[in-house]
Amino acid sequence: METPQTLQEAIQHYSDEQVCIDAVAKMRWPDGPTCPACGHKEHYYLKTQRRWKCKECYKQFTVKLRTVFEDSPISLTKWLPALWMLVSCKNGVSSYEIHRSLGVSQKAAWFMLQRLRLALQDGSIVKLGSGAAPVEVDETFIGGKARFMHKAKRQRLSRHGGMQGGHGKAVVMGMLERGGKVKAAVIPHRKENIPEQIVREMVQPGAEVHTDEFSGYYNLKDGYAHKVINHLEGYVKENVHTNGIENFWSLLKRGLSGTYVAVEPFHLFRYVDEQAFRYNNRKDARGNKMSDSDRFQLALSQIAGKRLTFAEVTGKVGQYPAF
Ligand SMILES: [Zn+2]
Repeated sequence: METPQTLQEAIQHYSDEQVCIDAVAKMRWPDGPTCPACGHKEHYYLKTQRRWKCKECYKQFTVKLRTVFEDSPISLTKWLPALWMLVSCKNGVSSYEIHRSLGVSQKAAWFMLQRLRLALQDGSIVKLGSGAAPVEVDETFIGGKARFMHKAKRQRLSRHGGMQGGHGKAVVMGMLERGGKVKAAVIPHRKENIPEQIVREMVQPGAEVHTDEFSGYYNLKDGYAHKVINHLEGYVKENVHTNGIENFWSLLKRGLSGTYVAVEPFHLFRYVDEQAFRYNNRKDARGNKMSDSDRFQLALSQIAGKRLTFAEVTGKVGQYPAF
């Protein structure tokens, strides 16, 4: 089998740990394994231990070192199919499904998914709006009302900055280049010009920007071709609309309510990143639908150098990633 095309083929293909190690190594080090400690390229391969030993500094390293797989006792024969499931299921995948399909405990599955989502974060620094297409900007509110929550939990969530949108909801802000990519992230609140500042950071000056009538965008007329759609008058007016980003919100919310039973606000950004990854990689550069296989390879290429500690996963370290 060359490269697997379906989940079933992937589970079969990656059922051998050495095949998995070779696949990850090829992604990490296209020119051959490189010592993470000193950068040297010559090494011995210790076959029984499945690790390399650097000929320069004599340190040993595995393919998992300095990746999201680091320190995990779970074999790559579970990790790679889990990644496949995560990037190919349109509405995401729950820890229960990973637990059931791959035979790891549900707790382990949850932890695996949190790490994999980090690997899916879009590290692109290219601004939106450099072409002719308008950029649709919008925010949405996610989560339940804080007053139904236990007091201690409410305080904990508030400390982590996840409950500062009105009525105990988290605010997610998104920007979508029509026909192109989306960038979305959890923001602390909609006040103090935060939405406007984010647009200025992420959208090319001079671009056409479409928003609703929310006053936080009022100053965008300075520096952008800002067009406002009044939702009371109608949803499309002379091609000015925010239907694309609203479509993204419905995908995000469908994933959150259908697949993830309970998402704590300080974890929300990971789900936002995950949905954005799937959305941005639904098509290849030529506009063809991206296959599950290609999307998996792309995700795998992002894993090197990313690693999540337990403190970060459980929210003990506050971290809202930059756009
Ligand atoms: Zn070395």
